[in-house]
Amino acid sequence: MLTRRELLSTAGGAALAAVAGPRLHAAAPLTAFAPPQAATGPFTLPPLPYPVAALEPHIDAQTMTIHHDRHHQGYVNGLNAALAKEPSVAGRSLDDMLSNLGAVPEGIRTAVQNSGGGHYNHTQFWTLMSPSGGGAPTGAAAAAITGAFGDFDTFKQQFAQAAGSRFGSGWAWLSDDSGTLVIHSSGNQDTPLADGRKPIFGLDVWEHAYYLTYQNRRADYVAAFWNVINWTEVNRRLATGGNQQ
Ligand code: MN
Repeated sequence: MLTRRELLSTAGGAALAAVAGPRLHAAAPLTAFAPPQAATGPFTLPPLPYPVAALEPHIDAQTMTIHHDRHHQGYVNGLNAALAKEPSVAGRSLDDMLSNLGAVPEGIRTAVQNSGGGHYNHTQFWTLMSPSGGGAPTGAAAAAITGAFGDFDTFKQQFAQAAGSRFGSGWAWLSDDSGTLVIHSSGNQDTPLADGRKPIFGLDVWEHAYYLTYQNRRADYVAAFWNVINWTEVNRRLATGGNQQ
């Protein structure tokens, strides 16, 4: 136990070191506050396929930076840290683990569900937006949406309903359910894979995805998504049964 005097002395030293700047960055009082070293691999953060400001004004640059560089990186780190504890799952694909969570060792199952799901969901999310996106669906997506939902406006209404009624954090999805397109939502970082569905596209409705620009107005953010949705990628995923790559 530190005495009160020692505690004050240590805190004072840390504060002074912080003020003094990088020269003292490695000084002893500060190392105690260093974050744990992130496990490296096997999963890595994919780069954004466009500059952070490319989706403005619909998604602002600061949101993109924090969302991609910190939130998504955090899911990658959490997933790798979990896998490092369980060599028996080495080499298993993320799709496979998320599709069969019950077969993932219990000690890391929740971490794979949350961090692995987070990595999976965000990886698809970045590619499903584009600065040249938006507008009406094209190609197979246009035909599939009309066939399943009647018309694009009805589809958007149903998707907005799914996104808006997800209480708390989660995702709204268009998924392939055994050959039928369905709109649904999931909580937290749960993926459609866990329910045997193949995601065609998902919209992140966690507050971290929209709060800086839209605050509590989730519906406005959901409406703005249609200005950046990448129909080319939607069509690629439709043609491949929802495969990520
Ligand atoms: Mn997110």
